[in-house]
This record gives sequence, C-alpha cells and structure tokens, in this order.
Amino acid sequence: MLIVGNQKTYLNKEEVLDFIEKTSSVDCSKVVICPSYIYIDLYKETSRYIVGAQNVSEKGNGATTGEISASQLASLGVDYSIVGHSERRDEQKEISENIYNKIVRLLENDIKPLFCIGEHLEEKKSGSTKDVIGKQILEVFDRLDSNMITNIVIAYEPIWAIGTGLTPTNDEIIETVQYIKDLIKDKYEIEIMVLYGGSVSRKNIDLLNEISIIDGYLIGGASIKPDEFLYIISTNE
Ligand code: PEP
Repeated sequence: MLIVGNQKTYLNKEEVLDFIEKTSSVDCSKVVICPSYIYIDLYKETSRYIVGAQNVSEKGNGATTGEISASQLASLGVDYSIVGHSERRDEQKEISENIYNKIVRLLENDIKPLFCIGEHLEEKKSGSTKDVIGKQILEVFDRLDSNMITNIVIAYEPIWAIGTGLTPTNDEIIETVQYIKDLIKDKYEIEIMVLYGGSVSRKNIDLLNEISIIDGYLIGGASIKPDEFLYIISTNE
C-alpha cells in the first residue's frame, strides 16, 4: 500500500514543524508527503517521509520565472510528483497536453508521476465516468512508451469527492478501478498501481480498506491532521 498526503497550501512553517514532530513515530517507508515546494527541504532534512511535489514545470531548467523544474526537484531528493490534480485542471485549466509534458519531464528525472484522474458530479450522474477517465488516461498514455507507463501511479479521485466528505460506494470504486486496470492491461500490457483519493478519513478508512483492488490512497485534508493521518496509516500496516 502506498499512502500519499497532499498537504496543498494548508500549513505554515511552524505547523509543518509541528506535523513532523507529532508524526515522527510513523513508519514512513510507504508514506509519501507532498508539501508545498518551500517545505520540501524541511521534510527531507527533518523527517523520514518519502517526499513528493504537488506539481512540476512542463519545461526544463531555464527562463521560466516562478516555475519549479523536475531537475530541481530531483536535486532535492524528491521521489514522486502529483500531476493533473483536479484543482489544477479546473483552476489552472491544465489539459492532457500539459500533463503529458509534465510526466515526460518527471520520468526524465527519475521521479514517479502520481497521475490524477477523475470525473465531475454531472459526469457521474450522466453515467459517463468511464468515458471521462478513459479519455484522460489514453490522451496521455498513447504518447508514452510502455517503459514510461510502468513508472506511473494513477490516483483515481472523483472530483465531487475531494474535500466534500462524500465518497463513492465501495462497489463503485471497485468497478472504476477495475476498469482503469483492465484498460491499461488490455491496451499496453502493463499493470500499474491505482490509488483512491477523495475524502479519505478516520471515519471511512476501515470501510475503504475492505477494497482489495486499490493499491493505496491519496489523502488531502486528513494529511495535515497528525492524529488522523497516523490512524489512517496504522490501519494499513
Ligand atoms: C486531494 O485533494 O487530492 C484529496 C484527496 O483531498 P481530500 O482528501 O481532502 O478529499
């Protein structure tokens, strides 16, 4: 199981230090923390977490003011990076072309992409979840070699479940994750990890853990609360 915490921009520096101290007892070997870029060094130097980024530049090092390149992340010891999070697809208008470029930059620098896919509520209601996520996958994967796809981790995150306290039923998650795994197996003859993300919490983790087909979780809000995060990790040891 891989557990990934996406801490977004929730924490200031003192709060990051407090989080690191309060979670220092955790077995960090399968836990990736994705802090704001500005705290990556702090996590690397003062914690045992595997460290990921929340985003990466589409371009290499150079004249790209305000961006952070994959090579810079690699030089800090970053092992993973989220790409295609719905907050970036919706707010920064990122499309598959941008996500593809980011994935290529990451893989060139031996950083594993955590590739987020998911449907909006209207898409779920109209029965088009599989069409939407199938398109999100194929638009990127059709342009990659199989040795690149192997190194990608998918995070299935229904957009309506992110930060809302809502989650799909276990049967719905199983059906969608099975679809993702089958699609990639049939098309590219590769098995890759698929995480579930969207309102994972202390309240629903035991129920979610009954799903054997998922390979871990991408956790937002609960990843900044030391007790809750430790509890979720402890159920997966
Ligand atoms: C996320 O933003 O990736 C996420 C899963 O958030 P939350 O756990 O708060 O729903």
